[in-house]
Amino acid sequence: LQKGVEGVVDVKQVNWKDIGGLHDVKQQIKQAVEWPMLHPEVFKRFGLPVSKGVLLYGPPGCCKTTLVRAAATTTRTTFLSLNGAQLFSPFVGESERIVTETFQKARTLAPSILFLDEIDSIVGKRSEGGSHRGVQERLLSTLLNEMDGIGIRLDDKVTGSSNKEAEGETSGQTQVKEDQKTDVDNSRVLVVAATNRPDLVDAALLRPGRLDRIVYVPHPDYQARLEILKIQCKTIPVNDVDLETLATNTQYYTGADLTSLCREAAMFAMTENLEANEVRERHFHAALSVVKPSLNDFLIEKY
Ligand code: ATP
Repeated sequence: LQKGVEGVVDVKQVNWKDIGGLHDVKQQIKQAVEWPMLHPEVFKRFGLPVSKGVLLYGPPGCCKTTLVRAAATTTRTTFLSLNGAQLFSPFVGESERIVTETFQKARTLAPSILFLDEIDSIVGKRSEGGSHRGVQERLLSTLLNEMDGIGIRLDDKVTGSSNKEAEGETSGQTQVKEDQKTDVDNSRVLVVAATNRPDLVDAALLRPGRLDRIVYVPHPDYQARLEILKIQCKTIPVNDVDLETLATNTQYYTGADLTSLCREAAMFAMTENLEANEVRERHFHAALSVVKPSLNDFLIEKY
């Protein structure tokens, strides 16, 4: 049975305002992902190289995937995503074929962002490969070959007709005139990889011209937790809930944990009374006893 690349195109839309906190990180992603996609000619004007790839690293559940989705949404580029599990196959050469076909698809659907989630599980360090070493090496060499064949060219013909400006919050200072924009073509493929284990990423992937922009995505601090809770509570009918205290009491919670916490609180309210139409403080208290933080001092220290 052959696996295909059908499932790799992701259509979930995310806007920058759906993301709480991470203001510096958002700015870095805009520079590394949004600007090259929308305004490659500005890089040319300033004599700056355009990165082909970006590596995001940080604790799990802290928004890496969501940030890339937001960049794809605002640039209106195709978002393709591939992870280690999709590549697992007992058949020789199958994983490499999926990588090659996914890059092919990214070029066909360009401009596109190809998101390689848990890159360490796709291609770990060669020295750590163990019994999978042969597969890992072949996969790494396929990936490096593919990465060397993509990028955002700076010598694109200037037409301004087909570039698609995104709606919503975009990178303010780079509002480039229509006639300065470059034509959309299939050279516009950007790879964004993510990992919770940057120490396991093979050094060959981090060389210039590959994943040469590295962005740390930290766990949410108090302000970020408050913003995430406010975002979540936009769609949950909360009443009389002190979100500031909740943000204080959720020190080691990731963004994913906070999302679960809010859902769990709503479930408690529903379970208590199916006719109810609001989630109250006591439901959040109950949820706190069920949804525990994923992080601790030791894990935070590691990043
Ligand atoms: P992993 O490393 O496990 O793949 P990740 O870092 O890619 O995780 P996401 O998948 O982006 O994390 O986030 C998980 C969930 O948590 C998503 O539903 C996302 O909406 C929510 N979330 C995480 N951080 C934030 C945030 N800062 N603002 C809003 N939602 C967030």
